[in-house]
Amino acid sequence: RTRVRFAPSPTGPLHIGGVRTALYNYLFAKQQEGDFILRIEDTDSNRFVPGAEAYIQEAFDWLGLPFDESPAKGGKFGPYRQSERKEIYKRYVTQLLDNKLAYIAFDTPEELEAKRNEIPNFQYDASTRLQMRNSLTLPAEEVARLIDSGTQYVVRIKIEPQIDITVNDLIRGEVVINSSVLDDKVIYKSADELPTYHLANVVDDHLMEITHVIRGEEWLPSAPLHVWLYNSLGWAETMPAFAHLPLLLKPEGNGKLSKRDGDRLGFPVFPLEWRDPKSGELSSGYRESGYLPEAVINFLAFLGWNPGTEQEIFSLEELVAAFSFERCSKSGAKFDFEKAKWFNHKHIQARPNEQLAEMFQPVLAEKNISCDMSYVANVIAVMKERINFVRELWDQVSFFFIAPVSYDEKTVRKRWKKESPAQLNELIGLLESIDDFSAGNQEKIVKQWIEEKGYHLGNIMNAFRLALVGESKGPQMFEISSLLGRQETIDRLRRAIE
Ligand code: GLU
Repeated sequence: RTRVRFAPSPTGPLHIGGVRTALYNYLFAKQQEGDFILRIEDTDSNRFVPGAEAYIQEAFDWLGLPFDESPAKGGKFGPYRQSERKEIYKRYVTQLLDNKLAYIAFDTPEELEAKRNEIPNFQYDASTRLQMRNSLTLPAEEVARLIDSGTQYVVRIKIEPQIDITVNDLIRGEVVINSSVLDDKVIYKSADELPTYHLANVVDDHLMEITHVIRGEEWLPSAPLHVWLYNSLGWAETMPAFAHLPLLLKPEGNGKLSKRDGDRLGFPVFPLEWRDPKSGELSSGYRESGYLPEAVINFLAFLGWNPGTEQEIFSLEELVAAFSFERCSKSGAKFDFEKAKWFNHKHIQARPNEQLAEMFQPVLAEKNISCDMSYVANVIAVMKERINFVRELWDQVSFFFIAPVSYDEKTVRKRWKKESPAQLNELIGLLESIDDFSAGNQEKIVKQWIEEKGYHLGNIMNAFRLALVGESKGPQMFEISSLLGRQETIDRLRRAIE
């Protein structure tokens, strides 16, 4: 069974790049009818930020990407917070030490610093570890004595030099790295009795039976070490497949997308609004900026993947069906914020009008307008083509809810002719007389009348629009009058000619 995990560290709000990573995990898992798991990697207590985990959960609830297993939901491979798995990691640290595949090191930060100053490009590895204070260089009694007396230590993985390590990546193919470039990474710290990211990550991926590790490219340099750890722990046979996703780049393409780019260019880089608990600074989110979750998903799916066809608008289900690693790009994906707006526009068109009316309701309430929701939905059906965000609706549709109290002067000067009042008066009579007030029927009858009378079509329509809208904007004229209804249309015409 395919099992994938999204494994964020709760160090702040989830970056939009993290959401993209999670989305690809989700798409692949669901395509394979597998499991999508949330694991909170909180072993670095210095970087822990309160509220971050709840934020992550809320973001996925909003996006509609449910986890099959998570800290909140549980599951049979839990706990899903690494800070609650201390004892599990200790077992494997002990196993590695017993098998002499890892060793204990007592070097203080000062000693390490001194070594770095002494040896250029110092790397704690096969060529230098014998110069350091660790269980490879100290007598066993001394090691035991130091530990017993409470000396803090770390455990380092023992990387043998000159061994080719192969990482099989579903996007990048075979990546071969020589072990000599790796250092003996710290895998455990006695100070907090916690493993470091590398060990916890590998142990959990194994124990949680993760089949595919899908994550950002920034983790590719760690992958050889992870392969080494799988081998050292005796788990080579069940090692997961890897897929390292291309980075999200600044819109200009020069470097990784950062929060500062969002501030600089005025777009959110977080799914939800986030208030920093320390500084109090508020960062905007896609949700609060008026994006539909399906638009965010569609937009993110295209940052690093394409379907190989012309189709750009995808529902989540369609993405699940279409996704493949073969069509993921190896090079970074430039963030195109204008495109995000376009996706939102497109997904607004796809949403049922009743739902959009519901979303628009608070704006109407704020304006003290109460009216039939089916009327609101009908207005939206005609006007949604013109907006990227629901909040932009009011400027477009206000005249459907409030009759003009004044008329735009410029338009009056240009479009209101001296014969307009008499003609509109005739039009009132005509509109009163027709049975079927649909846009189509009005159009037919009004145009017939204009032709018979030899009136100027443009002049009549301009005056009609001015009377109903107050200015020269809006959709097709009979669309407006049929939506407003006969009574309101006639009332507005009357007021205009008074
Ligand atoms: N905790 C890591 C992160 O914050 C997870 C990396 C991985 O998926 O292995 O990105």
